[in-house]
Amino acid sequence: MICAIRLWNMDTAELKASNGLNDDILSMLEEKLSLDIRLSEALQQKNNIKLRDRVYINMAEKFEWPELDRDIIDENIFCYALRDQLGILVDGTVVPCCLDSEGKIPLGNIFETSLEDILNGERAKNMYDGFSRRCAVEELCKRCGYAKRHKK
Ligand code: SF4
Repeated sequence: MICAIRLWNMDTAELKASNGLNDDILSMLEEKLSLDIRLSEALQQKNNIKLRDRVYINMAEKFEWPELDRDIIDENIFCYALRDQLGILVDGTVVPCCLDSEGKIPLGNIFETSLEDILNGERAKNMYDGFSRRCAVEELCKRCGYAKRHKK
C-alpha cells in the first residue's frame, strides 16, 4: 500500500487552476516530515518525489473531472482503467477508476462476485477492448478530461 499526495492543480493551456494553497501545503509537509529539501524547488525538477517509505508527492496539471451532464470531450482515447487501476466503493461496487466516485460505471459488487468474474464481465470487457482500440465505450469516459492526458 502506498500514499500518494497529489497536487494536480497546475495551469494548462485550457484550464486555469487554483493553487494558492500549494506553498502552505508544501511547507507543512516539510515541517511535519522533517524534510531537508525545499519541495517547491524540488518539484520544479521532477513531478514525483518520494517523501518517506511508501509516501509520495506528485504534481500534475488540472483536468476536467468526468461528468455525465457535460458535452463529450473526446471519444478516441486510451485509459489505463482495468489494466493498471480500478476502484472499489464502500458498498462493494467495483468501478474502473477512482474518478468514478459515484459508481456511474458499476461493474459488479465485490461482496457478491469475485473480482476475476467482474473483470471478465461483459461491461468490463467492452471497456477494456474499447480502450485497446483507443475508443471510449462508456458515456462517462467520453466526458473525462483525465484520459486526454494520455494523448499528449
Ligand atoms: S476514461 Fe476517465 S472515467 Fe473512464 S475509466 Fe478512465 S479515468 Fe475513469
